[in-house]
Amino acid sequence: MPERISTHEVLNQPTLFENVNLFTSDVVLKEAVAREGGGYAAQELDAFGAFCGSADALELGRLANDFVPQLVTHDVQGRRADVVQFHPAYHACMAASMEAGLHSSVWRHLTDAGAERRAGASVARAAALFMATQMEPGHVCPLTMTNAAVPLLLKLPEFAKSWFPKVLSRSYDSRFLPMDKKSSVTFGMGMTEKQGGTDVRANTTRAVPGGPDASYLITGHKWFLSAPMSDGFFVLAQATGGLSCFFVPRFLRDGSVNAIQLQRLKSKLGNRANASSEAEFHGACGWLVGDEGRGVAAIIDMVTWTRLDCAVSSAGLMRSALANAVHHCEGRRVFGKLLIDQPLMRHVLADIALDVEAATQLVFQLARTFDEDDASAGAWRRLMTPVTKYWVCKIAPRAVYEAMECLGGNGYTEAFPLARIYREAPVNSIWEGSGNVMALDVVRVFEREPEVVPLVVERLARMIQGDPKLSAAHHRVEAILHERSNMEAAARELTEQLALLAAGALLRETSPPQVSDAFVKTRLSGWPRQTYGQGLVAAEIKALLARATPVCNSLNT
Ligand SMILES: Cc1cc2nc3c(=O)[nH]c(=O)nc-3n(C[C@H](O)[C@H](O)[C@H](O)COP(=O)(O)OP(=O)(O)OC[C@H]3O[C@@H](n4cnc5c(N)ncnc54)[C@H](O)[C@@H]3O)c2cc1C
Repeated sequence: MPERISTHEVLNQPTLFENVNLFTSDVVLKEAVAREGGGYAAQELDAFGAFCGSADALELGRLANDFVPQLVTHDVQGRRADVVQFHPAYHACMAASMEAGLHSSVWRHLTDAGAERRAGASVARAAALFMATQMEPGHVCPLTMTNAAVPLLLKLPEFAKSWFPKVLSRSYDSRFLPMDKKSSVTFGMGMTEKQGGTDVRANTTRAVPGGPDASYLITGHKWFLSAPMSDGFFVLAQATGGLSCFFVPRFLRDGSVNAIQLQRLKSKLGNRANASSEAEFHGACGWLVGDEGRGVAAIIDMVTWTRLDCAVSSAGLMRSALANAVHHCEGRRVFGKLLIDQPLMRHVLADIALDVEAATQLVFQLARTFDEDDASAGAWRRLMTPVTKYWVCKIAPRAVYEAMECLGGNGYTEAFPLARIYREAPVNSIWEGSGNVMALDVVRVFEREPEVVPLVVERLARMIQGDPKLSAAHHRVEAILHERSNMEAAARELTEQLALLAAGALLRETSPPQVSDAFVKTRLSGWPRQTYGQGLVAAEIKALLARATPVCNSLNT
């Protein structure tokens, strides 16, 4: 009898990165939350981090993407249905994130007459978003839009009275029913049409007065309408006075379904758990927000919030990829040594960690300015929202790709989360203002809102005082502004240099010197480089890895 040889002994495969508390295991996140004023929510974030990093929650994320939403246009007897069916895992993600308040926690103070916004509320929410994204990024789209829709809803007092309590509700209600029969509601937004997304002035959807209860009747198409099962939408359409913003509820007051027909769902590179639809409006009732012709001015409030969320989500995706990579390298042996002890792998991981830390500092600093009303915070919010969204969302795919490679072949397979994170990564740069649009917005601030610029520039100058390399970076920004004859063409240069300068300045204030020195040396001066794993010395690598390595077993402590 030949000897039976087992071929299925599994050796040298690290444990899976699961059952890790995404809050307590992340040193940089915890520090940023405390520093920027979100520390009051540490206990809640701890609990939510434990959930988002649990094996069960990560499995929900996988299922919600593997079993993509399905559009049901008609019922069995041929009547219009226009509903989207989701896997239960998607609903479970929504329920958990709504319980954590992702869709509205920053607006809670508005229920108490005259109450002030809670300091740090946007920071605490951003931390929850940062972790929810790591569980599953697609479902945060409707939650982001709901949070961002509140300033617009409040401009319609008649609706706000009945809808706002349901916005604040933390119990997810996915049923396709009129708002008054539901425990909570979510919102979407419809701007993009086939002939123009960035250029919304090209919108052809029309709105004419004459609907019931002083509504307009809206007719046209929307090329991207994400989360079409939302209870209400903020939609741009052309009225007599020009492009205007309308609130379009899914159901009307008499309980009938508003005239929105879903044509099909997009098949997308990533973001698969999130249903993005093409929709037609057939005389749908919509209520004007603000004045006719002021649609962009009205919806821009909403868009500013969603841009913050894009940057936060991208930073969360980067953290997730990095944490998976470091964890894998801690458990995988190659040539007799753990990968985490191989000098070149340490260099690569530390270099990715440097970008993740910089991105994290930038997004939490930005989130803080959404909590503050002073001129300095307002200026930072105005200028640094497009700068931060541009840079963080653009560096995410590259960082995620390199982290994926750290897992070797496993990283490329769908069994591990890296491939899914990689497919997700580009979307935050494309929607809510693509890269060029963000860069052009930065130029617009310099050209048309000169009162904003000095407040940010002076703050940066204070932060970098006495640091020759950061001062040189500051001068580079000045040089772009003074020497380029065509600012539009130089918009990316300006935006990227501003992002790098702000990141360097923030790291100098907030992180150990080895981290900020490493950033300044490799991102703001030194040899040209295009790939990770270059230019850091041993002490910097050690410091970066100490901060990047997930503090594990925290679920059991
Ligand atoms: C998954 C997904 C979900 C989405 N969900 C929604 C949604 O719910 N609601 C909604 O309204 N939209 C949604 N969108 C649409 C998205 O916001 C738009 O695709 C985006 O704003 C770009 O518009 P566009 O596709 O028409 O491209 P265009 O406007 O044609 O832009 C194409 C490219 O040109 C660049 N560009 C534009 N203007 C200039 C310029 N002046 N100079 C140089 N370059 C320029 C842009 O940066 C972009 O890279 C979604 C998109 C995706 C991918």
